[in-house]
Amino acid sequence: MTLSQAKLAAPIGQEPVVIARNLTQVYKIKRGFFKPADHLQAVSGVSFSVLPGKTLAVVGESGCGKSTLARMVSLIEAPSAGELILGGVDVVKATDPQRHALRRSVQLVFQNPFGSLNPRKKIGSILESPLEINTTLDAQTRAEQARTMLALVGLRPEHYDRYPHMFSGGQRQRIAIARALMLKPGLIVADEPVSALDVSIQAQVLNLLADLQQELGLAYLFISHDLGVVRHIAHDVLVMYLGHAVEQGSKQAIFSQALHPYTQALLASTPGIVGSGATKKRLVLTGELPSPLHPPSGCVFSTRCPYTTTRCRQERPILREVAGQQVACHLAEQFIHPT
Ligand code: SF4
Repeated sequence: MTLSQAKLAAPIGQEPVVIARNLTQVYKIKRGFFKPADHLQAVSGVSFSVLPGKTLAVVGESGCGKSTLARMVSLIEAPSAGELILGGVDVVKATDPQRHALRRSVQLVFQNPFGSLNPRKKIGSILESPLEINTTLDAQTRAEQARTMLALVGLRPEHYDRYPHMFSGGQRQRIAIARALMLKPGLIVADEPVSALDVSIQAQVLNLLADLQQELGLAYLFISHDLGVVRHIAHDVLVMYLGHAVEQGSKQAIFSQALHPYTQALLASTPGIVGSGATKKRLVLTGELPSPLHPPSGCVFSTRCPYTTTRCRQERPILREVAGQQVACHLAEQFIHPT
């Protein structure tokens, strides 16, 4: 069994809600009538799994491929290559009825609670809509379930008859979470769910997500650029750069001993996070993210890494186990600090 296969193995009695193996997404970019198309590799061979009741946070700058990953896992886009198993079913080989059931089992919560709710519909109708489309429940049962869900996300019964514009940003995100839960999914893909909210409201929504996870055994794929937020919600962390997984491990490992210079730079730029070891050096991220159409040869981070060597520019590091976490860096061992 290879290392990455071992990492995907679940504890006895618990099956992962989602397993991704070498998930890849390549987009064809047309350049004109007589020119060959370019190929943009948005996600390159990313592997992970998420158990019920656990949160995998996917972090990285804008353009690192994390939202593409979210779209593949939520079945909005089919992967170009790799394997995606949801609830034990291989998505690529799924029959139409299986695919329909899978769509119900994975629900999305978007970044913008202002744009994701239909302003012309009352909250009750917004919550009942997934049931109307996907189930044969009668109107009374749908209304009862919507009211139960309102209470579960901390809203009041009278909110059922109100319109989205009558709510604050935090309340709207509660409504969006309630809508995502109406079909009783096993996995929630949350794409920057608190980035549009004030910091004080962010904490409330994160607490709500944590409470719901505990109560319902939900698995979360939590997409974020903000390690400060990730620290509060994640069990495991996957750091992406230019479509590649550059570091993966438990939250504890990533926050106490980041071994990839990119993770170290992300941590060093996050207010309130006191780094240890290499991160204490306040590694500053300079320069722009290279175009994914023309990624650097060798290590994808080599154009911005302060430790780049000739080998880094020539040879792409593979994700390998170092000190209990997985890192794609030739020099990872140098960043282990004594305990
Ligand atoms: Fe930096 Fe080299 Fe490690 Fe890439 S492989 S992160 S360039 S030290």
